[in-house]
Amino acid sequence: MTFKKSSFPLIFTAILCFVIGLGLIILCFLFPSGNDYEDPDPENEIVNNDPQQPSVPDEGNGDKVEPGEALNPETPTEPSEPDVPDEPVDPQIPSEPDVPDEPSEGEKPFVSSKDDPLLVLANVDNPLPDDFEVGELELVQKNSQGTYKLDIRAASYAREMIADAEAEGISLFICSSYRARSLQQTLFDNKYNSYIANGWSADEAYAKTATIIAIPGTSEHQTALCMDIVTPSYRVLDSGYAETDAAKWLAANAYKYGFILRYPKDKQDITKIIFEPWHYRFVGVENAKLIYESGLCLEEYIETLK
Ligand SMILES: [Zn+2]
Repeated sequence: MTFKKSSFPLIFTAILCFVIGLGLIILCFLFPSGNDYEDPDPENEIVNNDPQQPSVPDEGNGDKVEPGEALNPETPTEPSEPDVPDEPVDPQIPSEPDVPDEPSEGEKPFVSSKDDPLLVLANVDNPLPDDFEVGELELVQKNSQGTYKLDIRAASYAREMIADAEAEGISLFICSSYRARSLQQTLFDNKYNSYIANGWSADEAYAKTATIIAIPGTSEHQTALCMDIVTPSYRVLDSGYAETDAAKWLAANAYKYGFILRYPKDKQDITKIIFEPWHYRFVGVENAKLIYESGLCLEEYIETLK
């Protein structure tokens, strides 16, 4: 195919027109006219955010679905979260202090039982077994005398009782709580050995020691369910403590928190322990209320149970 030399400008013009036309078409594709790139109408935004006109339909199950999330089918499926091992539950962290549960109306009535673990008896006639294991302990109070812990079943009630007393201007000060059997044994052995060293017979030394140091296993403090409570202005463990506001407050209110006066004045022949207005024992709120209202001591109360 040949072209005359004079027709070249015409061909060149045609090619130029074609190129320009093609360019315009490409530009139209790249920058189409329309409102797509305009800012959304700000008024629409306000309307959509109007709580009176929710823009997201109510899903009906209470769970809110974020627009554009679950509703967007184009969203590629998120790769599932890599398997991260569950956070180990640290057993050292004490559980949130349980606010004592008020039994709700309609719950079955409380029936006390001899087998209730909160009624465990520790006295001269009923020593704890050698293999008695104390429950998990939890801090109740740290004061200038020491750090005092109780069984986790009692600790939150004790803390609440102390806080409520404080709110009424009564300062409760723990001076003894859990005592390990090993400590009791050490105290006992040291005293016993001192008598032996002084020439006492084994029987004499044992009997004499037992009048001064509780025989291991017979101290209720080993259960971690009791504590001795005084008040900063009166820290002596004697009957005079009963006249303090703290002792009076405890006598009137401790049962509401599951604690009972363990060694009442009029029950010494049964408990075989002197009147101890400072010694309070946790038995659970229901048992404590029944014991408080009946006027029985723990030994008597347990006798009434099946
Ligand atoms: Zn005590």
